[in-house]
Amino acid sequence: MIIIKGVPASPGIAIGKAYVLEDEEIVVSRQEIPKDKVHLEVKRFKQALEKTHRDLDNTEVKVLKTLGREHAKLIDAHRLILRDPLITKEVPRRIVEEHVNAEFALSETLERVNQAFEKIEDEFFRDRRHDLFDVGKRLLEHLLRQERKPLSTVRESAILIARNLLPSDTLHLREAKVLGFATDLGGRTSHTAILAQSLEIPAVVGLSDVSRQVKSGDVVILDGTQGLVIISPSAEALGRYEKAQQKVLQEEKALEVLRGLPCQTTDGRRLELLANLDSLDEIKTLVSLRPDGIGLFRSEFLYLNRTVAPSEEEQTRVYSQVAESLSPQPVIIRTADIGGDRLTELGLEAPKEEVNPFMGLRGIRLFLRYPEIFKIQLRAILRASCKGRVKVLLPMVSSLGEIRSAKRLLVQAHQELVSEGVKLESPVEMGMMVEIPAAVVLLDFLLEEVDFVSLGTNDLIQYVLAVDRVNEHVSHLYDPFHPSVLRFLQMAVESVHKKGKWVSVCGEMASDHRAVPLLVGLGVDAFSVSTRMFLRIKQTMRSLKFSDTKPLLGKALTMATSEEVQKLLEERG
Ligand code: PEP
Ligand code: MG
Repeated sequence: MIIIKGVPASPGIAIGKAYVLEDEEIVVSRQEIPKDKVHLEVKRFKQALEKTHRDLDNTEVKVLKTLGREHAKLIDAHRLILRDPLITKEVPRRIVEEHVNAEFALSETLERVNQAFEKIEDEFFRDRRHDLFDVGKRLLEHLLRQERKPLSTVRESAILIARNLLPSDTLHLREAKVLGFATDLGGRTSHTAILAQSLEIPAVVGLSDVSRQVKSGDVVILDGTQGLVIISPSAEALGRYEKAQQKVLQEEKALEVLRGLPCQTTDGRRLELLANLDSLDEIKTLVSLRPDGIGLFRSEFLYLNRTVAPSEEEQTRVYSQVAESLSPQPVIIRTADIGGDRLTELGLEAPKEEVNPFMGLRGIRLFLRYPEIFKIQLRAILRASCKGRVKVLLPMVSSLGEIRSAKRLLVQAHQELVSEGVKLESPVEMGMMVEIPAAVVLLDFLLEEVDFVSLGTNDLIQYVLAVDRVNEHVSHLYDPFHPSVLRFLQMAVESVHKKGKWVSVCGEMASDHRAVPLLVGLGVDAFSVSTRMFLRIKQTMRSLKFSDTKPLLGKALTMATSEEVQKLLEERG
């Protein structure tokens, strides 16, 4: 039995056989393409070719800047390969004549060429096959990204073990019916972890080398609450965990009585309890929890795993459906916060290539760079506002200019729709995420331009403490109880209330029962929590006495270390 400790990312226990996802593995299988569809397959191949050409153009710009013209010649060699009839003619020929998928036609062609290269005696020329494979791999990646059902190879009811999972992969986990997952990389508030919670899949991340220690087929216990992975457990451990699994189920059943009860403290302070929506899979569960609304609709999932941004019609449909399901309760739709660890295939090149994506072109910054995509989302949100109470929330705001630019686009979108004959109700409220320290410090000014505020503690903590939220090497430093974080939060809430506006907390800190008394003490108006933790947090709030929380927070704010704060909270019981 081997026990590995990692970072608990999504609570719950899973017991089952492991399925290890090989890193970088590109599996190409032969698929029969019906005769009347081969032209579509050829078209798909040509699109991948175009994308690979674009990749090369982008790489060339970078190489020219950093290494100079001499090195950029390599790119020309790659271009020549892409234009070679072997690629441009032979692959489509195979697709058409052999009725096979593009990936298969390509890899067969490459294999044939490889065999020919191997016979070449001249070492220099023989080595050119590496270039061929480099180009071939890029092409394959484009093809697989377009059509691939990520993780479709996972066997049902397995515990997935991988080096890393992207949020876009995570969206497929439920379809693949995995019991839970463990990864070498990642942190507690990575978007992969947040999605796992929404999908109610137990997960442990930041395990360093779990993907090398476990083999497919090994029996594994995954303890997402403690952050443990137990490989080949003893009979005793198995028995203990099976019992614990039962206990969790019983506890969850016991929480059911809280559905529909008001969220208020023992001394009568009513708090708004909203829910976060991370994917449409959750909507039924979310509505059944009867929240006071959706405090954070993370719209990013609409942009993942696709090469073309979602249309206005598609988005209008989704937002309208959600607004209707919640009506008359409000739905706060955050405009897409793409970037960071949420990468897309939309061809917005910059976020794919950044060295430090969390500091990069993300959220509002990215959408102001691509205003045409931004406006489509704003138009869809406005159109959905006829179906319920919808509000807009801007992510990653750090300056007044960003809010004003977004507002201009919102006003434009509104005017356009009206002139197109769309009947819109009263203007939609616009709020901002406060998740960058600069926004906290400047909040008195920023508040002039927004109607409400949502505190994004996940990012605020990462930026206040300079701890990358997905980097397992510094996850021990990622700390909601760090006194600096508490001071920033206090400063923010005070600023908002001074202007008489509304403030919620929508980061994971709001779903952490230990942190809840401090946040209640801060006087925030609302909490927006994951559906998974919704009833637990309601239970915590209903057991609190509001009048105790202010002095508790006051004490915490006098402390110099996180350890002291945590001890204070533990002693409180
Ligand atoms: C946050 O930063 O706290 C937040 C809620 O946004 P996200 O986790 O989606 O970045
Ligand atoms: Mg955030």
